Amino acid sequence: MLKDKFFNAEFQVFHGTGKPLSFERKELAIKLNSGEALVKVVLATICGSDLHTLEGKRKEDVPCILGHEAVGEIIDIKDRPGLSIGDRVTWSIADSCGTCPCCTEYGLPEKCDELFKYGHASINNGSGLNGCYSSIILIRKGTHLVKVPEALSNSMVAPANCALATMINAVSQIKTKPEKVVIQGGGLLGVYACGLLRELGVPHIFCLEVNKHRFDLIQRFGAVPVDAGNSEQAKAFIKERIGLGADVVMEVAGVKELIPQGMDLLRPGGEYILVGLVHPDSELGITGEQIIRKCVNIKGVHNYAPWHLDGAIQFLERNKSKFPFEELVSPPYKLENLEEAVAVAKEQHWFRVSLTTEY
Ligand SMILES: [Zn+2]
Ligand SMILES: [Zn+2]
Repeated sequence: MLKDKFFNAEFQVFHGTGKPLSFERKELAIKLNSGEALVKVVLATICGSDLHTLEGKRKEDVPCILGHEAVGEIIDIKDRPGLSIGDRVTWSIADSCGTCPCCTEYGLPEKCDELFKYGHASINNGSGLNGCYSSIILIRKGTHLVKVPEALSNSMVAPANCALATMINAVSQIKTKPEKVVIQGGGLLGVYACGLLRELGVPHIFCLEVNKHRFDLIQRFGAVPVDAGNSEQAKAFIKERIGLGADVVMEVAGVKELIPQGMDLLRPGGEYILVGLVHPDSELGITGEQIIRKCVNIKGVHNYAPWHLDGAIQFLERNKSKFPFEELVSPPYKLENLEEAVAVAKEQHWFRVSLTTEY
């Protein structure tokens, strides 16, 4: 019989909104099942959805270890051909069964019947090592693991398995070859969208954003930043430059009031891709008649499939010198100081604030 191996772990436990996080250190006995990997988290980043959970805007089973964006190094692994101890990796945020209709027929493993999502599961589920605000995480059998090329730094890669892979999925949904695209929201999703569309050769990309500190990076990712503070002025600015309207509008800000504006900016037959409104306060404020008369395609995108994560790493590799990926991420805070890092994340000076236990 296989003996348990012992690993030292330190992690932050979330007990519910308004309660303090608890930082814990433990020696854990871990025996891997076939297909599993134990990964040392080298660098994690704080995603907007983690902030929402901490603020009580979304509910999770508590107690739990939050955090799902990260890059790590395999420290133990069982029956995973092609991967070995010491490999630097990232992994899909969802674990799926591989046999249900979503996994097989519909091409939507991210909607698997038995879906499990890292950073969103109780500490009583499985090993409990389910989140990235931890020095180690247990990667399950149905989770896609991707080796990270040496040329990519940890800060370039950490947000790839949530924000970037989601935008790879979103951009891959565009059916036409667009000339004019409007992105509503210049946070990390929006900035990645700018870079992805720029790489595709889209000549006119406008990115609406209220935070002017973000304009410089939006521009360096290939788009024209537009001050979204005054909706009418913003619309007039874009309309002057796009004639009949945009081929594609992408909503990545999570603000329902933007939908009528986006509909107005779309050309007849245009595509509206909705990514940001993953919360109940998302009544669209448009009529069926508007959709029909304009012959608009509306597509919802939530999370991504394993192949989009492969695409994210390949995109980083192709463009590592072209776009300033590292400038999006703060220098690392100690995991122990997560509350301080969360406060910095809320200031929105950085697109992502990073955490590490390696110091
Ligand atoms: Zn995320
Ligand atoms: Zn499934």
